[in-house]
Amino acid sequence: MSARPEPPVPTVWLVGAGPGDPELLTLKAVRAIRAATVLLVDDLVGDAVLRYARRSARIVHVGKRGGCRSTPQPFIEQLMLREALAGERVVRLKGGDPFIFGRGGEEAASLRAHGVHVEVVNGITAGLAAATSIGAPLTHRDHAHGVMLVTGHAKDESTTLDWRVLGAAAAQGLTLVIYMGVSQAARLQAGLLEALPAGTPLAIVQHASTARQRSALTTLGGLLDTLAREGLGSPAVLIVGDVLRGLAQLSPPVAAQAA
Ligand code: SAH
Repeated sequence: MSARPEPPVPTVWLVGAGPGDPELLTLKAVRAIRAATVLLVDDLVGDAVLRYARRSARIVHVGKRGGCRSTPQPFIEQLMLREALAGERVVRLKGGDPFIFGRGGEEAASLRAHGVHVEVVNGITAGLAAATSIGAPLTHRDHAHGVMLVTGHAKDESTTLDWRVLGAAAAQGLTLVIYMGVSQAARLQAGLLEALPAGTPLAIVQHASTARQRSALTTLGGLLDTLAREGLGSPAVLIVGDVLRGLAQLSPPVAAQAA
């Protein structure tokens, strides 16, 4: 008598949907999306990515859309758990990479604590896409020997970043890539200016890799004026460092603002 097949282990795939351009999806991500019977989709995931989902798949948008409040995190985690335990093929689709500021770590831990197997599929994180989209080599060895990915939006006040210290690290040749920094622009600018010259090049890239992409090249000193003048807002990445020098194709040119 042959042994009975083991029942499938409940599994959730945490999948990085990349920055928006569906061509930047990994093959692994496409395969997971195609196989999904339930997809929980973050607000920053572009609709174009969903073209790979089965027609029969249930798609649940769990992010802020149309000004609505975002879905509470415990609700998302319970929904994933319930569907996985019910035998669905659950894909949690997150913008960029699931483990870069995406709460992927929290979600994976919560699922594992309930006995659910978790598979994580990398995505291209927004900071990398933003830099490439404006032609900025983040670790150009003439200017930088590393890169820091930081969030401008701390979980709570006690974990607020010390921007002066980050500025000092940037001054040592580390390019700074700041996610969720627009709402904190005044605070981060003031802190960074304690350690970096006002003329340090800074780029703002909104909606990187999508048809709505807009960007501006300015300086650390010009950040607030440029945000206001260009009307740039979230979702955007700020890039700070000398690797931006020479990106003359962007306007306004750094030299014009560096005074
Ligand atoms: N896990 C995501 C980041 C989620 S945090 C990733 O790896 O990219 C959300 C922040 O990411 C936004 O506030 C913004 O700073 C940045 N972001 C996400 N998509 C973006 C895009 N297409 N263009 C610019 N910034 C983006």
